[in-house]
Amino acid sequence: MTTTLDEWRAHARTAQETDRQVRRLYHLAYRTAPIGRILTNPNATADRVAYATTRIPRASAAVARILTRPGVAEHLETPYALSFLTTAERALTAPSTQLLKTANTARAAAAAASENSDDLRCVLFGDIEDRCRYLVDAAHHGWTRHEHAASKTVLDLAARWRLSPDARPADANQPPVPAHIAQEAARRAEIRARCTAGIRCTRTTCLAYGAVRTHDGTGQGPFLCPGCIPAVNAEHAARGLAPTLQAVPGGVPAHARYSVTLYNGSGPGRRTVTCTTPQEAQFTAETVRPFNNTGYTIHVTTTP
Ligand SMILES: [Zn+2]
Repeated sequence: MTTTLDEWRAHARTAQETDRQVRRLYHLAYRTAPIGRILTNPNATADRVAYATTRIPRASAAVARILTRPGVAEHLETPYALSFLTTAERALTAPSTQLLKTANTARAAAAAASENSDDLRCVLFGDIEDRCRYLVDAAHHGWTRHEHAASKTVLDLAARWRLSPDARPADANQPPVPAHIAQEAARRAEIRARCTAGIRCTRTTCLAYGAVRTHDGTGQGPFLCPGCIPAVNAEHAARGLAPTLQAVPGGVPAHARYSVTLYNGSGPGRRTVTCTTPQEAQFTAETVRPFNNTGYTIHVTTTP
């Protein structure tokens, strides 16, 4: 059998085109691999998860089209190129992705519940988010049997509370909650109730709620209840200090903001949260615990 020059040229052109398509396929699959890794990151946000879950199927569709080109499916480099895409495609349907979606839905629902002073949902959804993210992280080392069961439990709980990604608001028939969640929600409701009296007196022998803002002649003094101001001044006098604390006349102006600084009592680190009411400030101080040993101070900030 002889090959004419024209035939030989046509073969060469086809082979060249196949190589070009395989290179396209490789680049596409290679670029998709890091997008798949978004779905194994326990801290992935809703936006990032949505990006990954949209981009990966698009890449799969594009790759499927390239695979129909002559010679591409049979090409020696193709299986290696496809392995990058396969990992991302697997991530798409892995339990971690469902957990991440649930974590992000729970986070948004907990924030909404916090706005509505709904302690039970706030605690429950916060707990669901934490459990989901923990399991996504644990998946890096492969799940134990216990973790497989924990994943099913938390996703079932989330579904009962309509926290699946296409969630609707929960109806009036409240599904049961784990006992520790009910306890934590009750504790939070108790704190909320105490905080309706306002900011706590900073005098350690008092700590009553409903303290007023003081000043010491040069600047902002601590929050104290009216009865504690003369007592603290007397303590100052006994130590040879000038008794200068007074309640700020007129109290805190309506447009003022409360700045709650949460600090680490046993190491570096602090966080500041701005609140609009004294109740919210005190509630934040007692419920937001970013450190194992969280302490707090509350200041009034007046913005012009
Ligand atoms: Zn007091």
